[in-house]
Amino acid sequence: MKFDAIIIGGGAAGLFCAAEAGKYGRKVLVIEHNAQVGRKILISGGGRCNFTNAGTKAENFISKNPHFCKSALARYTPQDFIELVKKHRIEFYEKKLGQLFCKESSRLIVEMLLAECRTGKVEIRTNCSVKNVEKNEFFELETNKGKFVSESLVIATGGLSFPKIGATDFGYKIARQFGLKIIETRPALVPLVFEKIDQSYKRLAGVSIDTIVSSGKSSFRENILFTHRGLSGPAILQISNYWQKEKAVSLDILPNENALELLEKNRESKQNLDNFLSRFLPNRFAEVFTELNFPNKPLYQLNRKEIEKIAENLNHWQVKFNETEGFHKAEVTLGGVDTNELSSQTMETKRVKNLYFIGEVADVTGWLGGYNFQWAWASAFAAAQSL
Ligand SMILES: Cc1cc2nc3c(=O)[nH]c(=O)nc-3n(C[C@H](O)[C@H](O)[C@H](O)COP(=O)(O)OP(=O)(O)OC[C@H]3O[C@@H](n4cnc5c(N)ncnc54)[C@H](O)[C@@H]3O)c2cc1C
Repeated sequence: MKFDAIIIGGGAAGLFCAAEAGKYGRKVLVIEHNAQVGRKILISGGGRCNFTNAGTKAENFISKNPHFCKSALARYTPQDFIELVKKHRIEFYEKKLGQLFCKESSRLIVEMLLAECRTGKVEIRTNCSVKNVEKNEFFELETNKGKFVSESLVIATGGLSFPKIGATDFGYKIARQFGLKIIETRPALVPLVFEKIDQSYKRLAGVSIDTIVSSGKSSFRENILFTHRGLSGPAILQISNYWQKEKAVSLDILPNENALELLEKNRESKQNLDNFLSRFLPNRFAEVFTELNFPNKPLYQLNRKEIEKIAENLNHWQVKFNETEGFHKAEVTLGGVDTNELSSQTMETKRVKNLYFIGEVADVTGWLGGYNFQWAWASAFAAAQSL
């Protein structure tokens, strides 16, 4: 069975690339090892798929080469994908910060991609596992469904997150087989685990606080959420992409206040510290935070040194994390196929003609908020033009 292009991985990037190449008249096969395509799309965005971010910029991505994503993002923009979504009459809304979600269900995005694939006469094989890939004159694939031959091969097998729905290291293995460099991978957009899990913090599980979270030069203002072992919530997921084990993350849990000024202003207050803090922070948090870190006295009894320490902890709480919650809870994978190995115009590898890597398998990782799908669409589109 000979194809113009075989795409391994029937996820966001693979399906979109197949549909686009099919529309240009290419004979395309998608190979998916799951029984169903697009499983990650289905669970994305809490079942509503945050399919793009209207304000996507190169700065919203992390990569060893931060310029690499620019060309593809410029040639297939969020607006292009929005037009496609509108063409399929899928209703959507902006949740916040340019994040566009389906009103009804992520399923509509998968159905849209499948409809586009049908237009392009794309063949899709599910439950299909690739056992071996070789390149002679063409790419030759040995699978559990027989042998397939193709002029071009596109690897769209995604990253390592959520192994329970089919994530594998297949893409990295193929990259290594063809001598391509890989930037070390690690879980990203992932909850973090405290270095010291104080039992008292367990009482805070479920508490959420509007916080500015910073690591190095990167900071995000959104909610943090206490878990039984550490912190999650959008602000923590965002900072997890930049987190370094040896460095503390700085949390400003009173982002609207200068804590020192606030405490000074209330210096005469007869309120105990925990009660005072609960005017600005959730009760449970004010209680535990005070109990663990400070003397719970009326404010008027606090000395200058104590006030400074409390203020420092409110605006610059230094928290050390030991590890992430791992790939089974990470939304994406940081690292991947080194972008220096790829053409930024087409995603084709520089070393091996007609071999492409698109989507999350490449070393381009977006922030939380629809950026990762936009990268999947844009990189897929770039490759499809060249197939
Ligand atoms: C819970 C969750 C929620 C998310 N929500 C959002 C969101 O709302 N917005 C956003 O922008 N991003 C979101 N993401 C990230 C986004 O889903 C991914 O970045 C995106 O799907 C990557 O597209 P991809 O095509 O590269 O990989 P995937 O969509 O992961 O597709 C890869 C495909 O390859 C298949 N595959 C893997 N190995 C093999 C193999 N050996 N043989 C054959 N097939 C194989 C997989 O089964 C899968 O179908 C979320 C991720 C998770 C885990």
